Amino acid sequence: MDVKLETSWDDLPLMANTSHILVKHYVLDLDVDFESQIFEGTIVLFFESRNRLEKQSGSTKETCRSESNEACRFSTPEPCHSPVTDTRTSSSKTGYNDFAICGKGEKDTSGKDGNHDNPEQASGISSSKYCCDTGNHGSEDFLLVLDCCDLSVFKVEEVDVAVVPGIETFTGSSQIAFVSEELRNQIVHELVTLPADRWREQFDYYAHCSQAPGCGELLFDTDTWSLRIRKTGAQTATDFPHAIRIWYSTKPQGRSVTWTSDQSGRPCVYTMGSPVNNRALFPCQEPPVAMSTWQATVGAAASFVVLMSGENPAKPTQLREGRASWHYYVTMPMPASTFTIAVGSWAEMKPEICSSEDLAAETSLTPSEADFRCVGVCGHMEYPCRFQNPSATTQEVIPHRVFAPVCLQGACYETLLPLVRPCLSAAHSVLGTHPFSRLDILVVPANFPSLGMARPNKEKTGHVSDSGSSVIKHGLNPEKVFMQVHYLKGYFLLRFLAQRLGDDTYFAFLRKFVHTFHGQLILSQDFLQMLLENIPEEKRLDLSVENIFRDWLESSGIPQPLQTERQARAECGLARRVGAEVHKWIRVSRRPQKRKRRETEEVFEKLLPDQLVLLLEHLLEQKTLNPRTLQSLERTYQLSQQDAEVRHRWCELIVKHKYTKAYKDVERFLQEDQGLEDSSCWGATDMLVSRHTALGGVLRLVTCTRYLRSCFQPRMLLWQAMGIYLYGELMVSEDARQQQVARRCFELTKEQMDRSSAQVVAEMLF
Ligand SMILES: [Zn+2]
Repeated sequence: MDVKLETSWDDLPLMANTSHILVKHYVLDLDVDFESQIFEGTIVLFFESRNRLEKQSGSTKETCRSESNEACRFSTPEPCHSPVTDTRTSSSKTGYNDFAICGKGEKDTSGKDGNHDNPEQASGISSSKYCCDTGNHGSEDFLLVLDCCDLSVFKVEEVDVAVVPGIETFTGSSQIAFVSEELRNQIVHELVTLPADRWREQFDYYAHCSQAPGCGELLFDTDTWSLRIRKTGAQTATDFPHAIRIWYSTKPQGRSVTWTSDQSGRPCVYTMGSPVNNRALFPCQEPPVAMSTWQATVGAAASFVVLMSGENPAKPTQLREGRASWHYYVTMPMPASTFTIAVGSWAEMKPEICSSEDLAAETSLTPSEADFRCVGVCGHMEYPCRFQNPSATTQEVIPHRVFAPVCLQGACYETLLPLVRPCLSAAHSVLGTHPFSRLDILVVPANFPSLGMARPNKEKTGHVSDSGSSVIKHGLNPEKVFMQVHYLKGYFLLRFLAQRLGDDTYFAFLRKFVHTFHGQLILSQDFLQMLLENIPEEKRLDLSVENIFRDWLESSGIPQPLQTERQARAECGLARRVGAEVHKWIRVSRRPQKRKRRETEEVFEKLLPDQLVLLLEHLLEQKTLNPRTLQSLERTYQLSQQDAEVRHRWCELIVKHKYTKAYKDVERFLQEDQGLEDSSCWGATDMLVSRHTALGGVLRLVTCTRYLRSCFQPRMLLWQAMGIYLYGELMVSEDARQQQVARRCFELTKEQMDRSSAQVVAEMLF
């Protein structure tokens, strides 16, 4: 009877039973220890059981604010449907968990909606499956399932929120006579549903509650992917404690954070968008439906800087000798996977033009009470939103800080700092109001794995079980990081739409889109639908959501519109000039080697870096190029001193023609340009790769990317990915000396590579 979600080795399961209960707020209190490479401390979670919850999606947010608990019906389409509810509500004690979904004693009026909304799920779910999903074999207690891996959990306890001074106001009486589970949950319910204009009070109470003593340990166990907690006798999510504290520590090998060193050689640690998201940093609910706020206090040795996603520009508070703590908070509910932290010995790079008065003026725009009532423009759940604050909406440059290793100070002042304000201002002019009140910019170590996130999105990632758990297919595949074709296609689709509609129409729409959907999870379909509804008929032409999906997202290979564009580009002047140079080089290469009388020397034109890339791409198509030609090529363009993209093509030529004299250039590329040392790559887009494992796959990959490269801006390549291709090319040649180069470089650099890259390369090499 043990029916489980079907998973394969590389799928990422999301175990949290978000259909029953949702985390509304996290309070983290952690210490970072670089010696043992762990975070250790507590996390307090504040819950709302789903039957109390309002409808998540937008406009009906106000409906149940003031109503009593049971009056607010669970009405999202997902897991509440009649087959389960019907049988269980009438069969008393045998069914327990179903009450957690739909509320004890509720009459089933939601059943018909549930059925219609999601017939697929409604039909396929049996009660046995349901039990197994939550791992609740035979027990009558409600089981809280949190996403969690690589954590050592020491203790789980209920928090006695009723003892917090002043909290009795939430119970509607002046003092608390008798404390029951129900009362504590009532208090948490009132706290998590406070209106947005009382967010300061709410966050103060969260902090006080998180310090309150425990009032009973809870039973728990862990498995590979989850932490399961229950309380004897609490049979439904409604009865389960709504504020719990977990004592735990991370493990050095945990996959949510990378312990490494920065460019100055000092230790640092950061979340890097791991495939397992944040579940190896703190136990959480990963499905994005669990939108929560958080506050976190992190203690570290005083020489360290602690940065986090947060709305306040935290400053360190001195603790005991040599230790300091940093406190951050976020009032905008977001999926737990968006929580970020970075701790290191970085220096703040302060721009001279930005005086402290500027900063003070800017910071004063963090949410203040009374300004915020989510009416009018806001379709999201309630929070103190900047779109409601007139002075925030006109703020072009939000407060920001730049942190970097000391050794990069010069480069930061010279290159990075002058760009930040214009970039923020440009973002504001294109997209409108900055959704966050401030920003920390950190120059990350070279092994930062970039955009390799396997974030769950709003769209179902596979079968979603009755409890809310699901699976991200291939979410753990280490190659996945390099297979983000969807990001790349997305980028080019947007570019295509901008060209088709014209910048004015397109950007006006983009602004409107952000305004409409800020603070909400949305689908690509929503975006396209809104776009098509908002553009004039004559510009829409043959565009439809279906067409766009078919041509851009569902089809494999290069979308047709891009192929057309590529042809057009090949005919432009800059590319034609490259064509002429290519012919000269081919002539040079075919010339007999020993010739007494010097023929007229070829005169080569100067080429721009992009043209050089194109030239080398063309030359890569040549079957043979002799060493003499390669040498001359190197000298003519000083290839080993060009940028990484040019050098990468140069390295490919070296490898292809076994030009041993220049193997040092390949080694240098693999050792120095493996990571993302240049921020120009940042945020561009991910590299596209098909499959890596088999060497045959590498070949296909190389062919496919070479073709794509010549059609795309080379700048978009992530250098990291380029290094990996080069490893592939060195190995696929089956040339002993080349393989030796690959292995030697890998030995020297693997410690600095991010884990996924290292794993992929190791598979190729050994
Ligand atoms: Zn808003």
